[in-house]
Amino acid sequence: MIDFRSDTVTRPSLKMREAMSQAEVGDDVYGDDPTVNELELWSAKRHGFEAALFCSSGTQANLLALMAHCQRGDEYLCGQQAHNYKFEGGGAAVLGSIQPQPIENEKDGSLCLTKLAQAIKPDDSHFARTKLVSIENTINGKVLPLHYLAELREFVNKHQLSLHLDGARVYNAATALNVDITEIAQYFDTMSVCLSKGLGAPIGSLLLGSTQVIKQARRWRKVLGGGMRQAGILCAAAKIALTENVEKLSIDHENAYYLAQQLNSITGFSVNVEQVTTNMVFVKVDSSIDINAVARALKTQDIIISPSQNMRLVTHLDISKTDIDIFISTLKYQLINIK
Ligand SMILES: *Cc1c(COP(=O)(O)O)cnc(C)c1O
Repeated sequence: MIDFRSDTVTRPSLKMREAMSQAEVGDDVYGDDPTVNELELWSAKRHGFEAALFCSSGTQANLLALMAHCQRGDEYLCGQQAHNYKFEGGGAAVLGSIQPQPIENEKDGSLCLTKLAQAIKPDDSHFARTKLVSIENTINGKVLPLHYLAELREFVNKHQLSLHLDGARVYNAATALNVDITEIAQYFDTMSVCLSKGLGAPIGSLLLGSTQVIKQARRWRKVLGGGMRQAGILCAAAKIALTENVEKLSIDHENAYYLAQQLNSITGFSVNVEQVTTNMVFVKVDSSIDINAVARALKTQDIIISPSQNMRLVTHLDISKTDIDIFISTLKYQLINIK
């Protein structure tokens, strides 16, 4: 299978599976799992935070951050396109009684500081209490520059707000910027990191923050049913994801760029190639092409895409440059046959 739908489809490597089978474990709700404890200690230090929490998913890590920063009746500012606003089932409102205040994302994915300032509510009982700004990096495959993060940090300091990073793909951002992860992490009070996307672990996300915030998040994790027992099995794979797979992300980025170039050379497919700086390719497909029929035909050749006239393709550990060549030649062949 050559699966372009998402980097979430990556499967754990043999090395991960071996590490999982040999992991020393205990009951993590008692704090007894040495592999969980080691990963949390190591990750906190590695990312420049006081503490870390291993979570079941990115959605959970984001929700815990929101619930740790905000109380009932508080609000967070975020982008209209924010995953933790648009794609997490409204969890902050549903489970945290926290109001989201979305703001239109700029073209580059950032949030305009003037618009953010206008959305901060005065201290008045008519309004929810504005407590937090939450941003995403990468956002839709785009990388936010470091100078913007620095300006945003100054902004939240000035307005006495906290700052959360939904860093599901923050390692892709660090890779594209060619900086250490701490260069990005330094600006945030909390940061989530997906281990099960491009980094290739089977399950899990990290939430990083101060001792105080992580203690609160740990409490909410238990309340939400996320207290796991012998989770060291998962953390053994997570450690390999963080120590061995980060450096492989640059290959995904090169492959995405190559894929973008190849697709852009096909009639009816258009990609803004220069915008492809991480592992995502956005393709406009001409309305004359029945992309659903193309997807069905590709499927018979073990190639999976999410068909749409505005299509996203994602490169990852389990897609090589050769796979892209196979995809492109199969696609060209199908396009001729379908017509
Ligand atoms: C995937 C993703 C999440 C959520 O992660 P899950 O593990 O799927 O819950 C959060 N934010 C962003 C930006 C993501 O891409």
